[in-house]
Amino acid sequence: MGNIIATKCKSCGFSNEFRYGGGRFSYQTHCPVPAINKETLKFENINYLEHKDSDKYLFYSDNILKGNNFDNNTINNFDLKLNMVNNYCPSCKEKSLDFRITMFTD
Ligand SMILES: [Zn+2]
Repeated sequence: MGNIIATKCKSCGFSNEFRYGGGRFSYQTHCPVPAINKETLKFENINYLEHKDSDKYLFYSDNILKGNNFDNNTINNFDLKLNMVNNYCPSCKEKSLDFRITMFTD
């Protein structure tokens, strides 16, 4: 039920990898999601369940980090939805970061 997701920015070439969604036995306490730390503006892979009520982070499931999603493809984990294309890039600040699932974890 979890994924490893690779990112790639169409504009500046930035790329990294993050975990999305917890494992079969840990999903109730551990649900890693991609987020932007509002203080440092850095990309972080944090536990949604620990930080969802915090205002320290913007999550990639929030509309503010999403750009045009022409084909409406999303990667879902319970209530969380990520767009596969045109997400906020922490490097060049454009909405040009694409997500691609590279591995399914359980
Ligand atoms: Zn970029």
